[in-house]
Amino acid sequence: MKNQYDVVFIGSGPGGYTGAIRSAQLGYKVALVEKYSTLGGTCTNVGCIPAKALLDSTEHYHQAKEQFITHGINLNGELSLDFTQFIKRKSGVVSQNTAGLIYLMKKNKIDVYQGLGSFIDKTHLKVNSIDKETLLNAKYFVIATGSKPSSIPGVDIDKKRIITSTEGLSLPSQPKSMIIIGGGVIGVELASVYARIETEVTIIEYTDSLIPTMDRELGKALYKSLAKLNIKILLSSKVQSAVNTGEQVSVSYLDKDGNVLEITADYCLVAVGRRAYTDGLNLQAAGVETAKNGKVMVNKQLQTSIPNIYAIGDVIDGPMLAHKAEDEGTFVAEVINGQKPHINYNLIPGVVYTWPEVAAVGATEEQLKAQGIEYRTGKFPYSASARARASMDTDGFVKVMVSPKYGEVLGVHIIGPRAADIIAQSVVGMEYEVTAEDMFRISYAHPTYSEALKDAYLMASGQGAINI
Ligand code: FAD
Ligand code: NAD
Repeated sequence: MKNQYDVVFIGSGPGGYTGAIRSAQLGYKVALVEKYSTLGGTCTNVGCIPAKALLDSTEHYHQAKEQFITHGINLNGELSLDFTQFIKRKSGVVSQNTAGLIYLMKKNKIDVYQGLGSFIDKTHLKVNSIDKETLLNAKYFVIATGSKPSSIPGVDIDKKRIITSTEGLSLPSQPKSMIIIGGGVIGVELASVYARIETEVTIIEYTDSLIPTMDRELGKALYKSLAKLNIKILLSSKVQSAVNTGEQVSVSYLDKDGNVLEITADYCLVAVGRRAYTDGLNLQAAGVETAKNGKVMVNKQLQTSIPNIYAIGDVIDGPMLAHKAEDEGTFVAEVINGQKPHINYNLIPGVVYTWPEVAAVGATEEQLKAQGIEYRTGKFPYSASARARASMDTDGFVKVMVSPKYGEVLGVHIIGPRAADIIAQSVVGMEYEVTAEDMFRISYAHPTYSEALKDAYLMASGQGAINI
């Protein structure tokens, strides 16, 4: 029957599109509903992908400016940035990815409906687009509507001078100065983008550390690396207000000594976290319950209070990460199919795409201490790595923590070159419960950045490292 489906995914971000593809592969008739004209959600359009494109471009610029001369490459003072092309290339990367998703939907025979999905009841969803209204009927619905930026009292986002990451990824011209509220993941990534091209950047962070949810040593080391980019970092500082004064923004904050101070910049970018997004979904009509913080409540099967309606990704509890949303998309497709899939929430890696990159999996040292778990640490600095010296990437370290009794790997924390890719090896190891000895006895190609792990595991096992 027309418009009748086995599974309808609402939202086409990494959670929705991955789940839709898996459901189609399992033989179901699937539809995907997306309110915007392009597929891919936050991650593809205004998140992971454009942020990484700008991070890559600016890192090239920064290296050309600061490091080429040491490599013997002389630009004879001829370096300049074409800001319009810089943003245009980023948009091109996004378009390639959104086009790829249209191809994947066709390949998997998934019907795509563009418009705002709104529940009529637990088996019917209305899709409102500009010119029509369509009614979909399904046995199962999956809410994958993601998240939106949040703000703080006294700071009203006007999208002109007081902006979020979305506007920050598509500015019309290069700003001379920018204040970033929040030294979390978005804050430090976008601070890197703009500081590398010589925008004066100030980060104002409420806690006493950058990236405060990660192991503290990572935040400290990142502070030093970002300070080298001339980023001004104000820790233990609480923003009170931001006012658009026309050409500039004036931000007032309470510093760590209790003084009220004021600074101005061309833009104020607000990066204080994101909130679950369910606006317009009309969850009450279906009977789906949400928590006080707006997140859709689910059980271990990711089933909402209504058994035929599931929810995944940023709209439910847990880290707001694209790979977590993807894993949950696959998970619900398989649960609906009667399988018994598994997600190990303790082993979802977290990555920050600064340079050096930051990547971690498992427990932080602070968590182990708080839980009274015994551990032994091995820490190897990249300054002692031959590979890192060759590429002039000697900032950072690998830190592993293992249980002294059995050698179980409890946490791996890396700040260094290509940490985002290197962390995968530790995720595999920890998932299969290898020991620190297993990790140092396997062969590591030389010279690689990953070798730093071997030395760190040797140290954590009570043996001396080879390279320091
Ligand atoms: P989303 O990607 O938010 O997608 C939800 C979709 O649902 C949206 O397209 C929305 O339009 C649609 N929608 C909402 N309501 C309705 C409705 N009623 N009807 C129809 N459609 C609807 N994560 C990483 O893992 N790595 C990174 O490097 C990374 N970088 C990031 C950089 C930035 C600047 C930002 C903002 C985020 C970043 N993230 C990153 C986080 C990542 O983008 C999210 O965790 C991820 O997109 C969540 O996926 P999702 O499928 O749950 O939701
Ligand atoms: P976040 O939670 O990472 O950081 C927010 C920061 O703002 C925190 O450090 C917090 O202490 C600070 N803060 C809160 N109130 C403040 C105030 N009044 N004054 C000053 N600082 C204040 O959130 P985010 O950086 O906005 O990112 C949102 C989500 O997007 C995160 O959950 C993250 O996982 C995801 N994301 C991931 C990546 C990645 O995986 N590389 C990149 C970007 C975003």
